Amino acid sequence: MHELSLMTNLLDDAVAAAAGAPVRAMRVRVGPLSGIVVDSLRFAFEALSPGTPADGARLDIEETAPSLHCPRCGTDFSTPVGSYDCPSCGATDGELRSGNELELVSIEVPDHV
Ligand SMILES: [Zn+2]
Repeated sequence: MHELSLMTNLLDDAVAAAAGAPVRAMRVRVGPLSGIVVDSLRFAFEALSPGTPADGARLDIEETAPSLHCPRCGTDFSTPVGSYDCPSCGATDGELRSGNELELVSIEVPDHV
């Protein structure tokens, strides 16, 4: 379950970004091709956050659709996993531009620290 080590890194990033403030919430973006199981990520958060400044924080997970670029007609499009046909010209050789990301998008800290 590599979600544990991934969440360790995300928590480190969130705590560093909070600069000593408690973390109220953290928003994480997960690409559908990252192989990450969202439930496992949540479980890892529950397991790892107690005792850190992110203890009790809300975890928002944003799941993205893969985005592709069609080399034939230049269309950029998002598509469900497993279907990479260009909606404009039907080409099947779209280049994957994103979909395997895992990143910390933002955190929330209290207004008054
Ligand atoms: Zn196309």
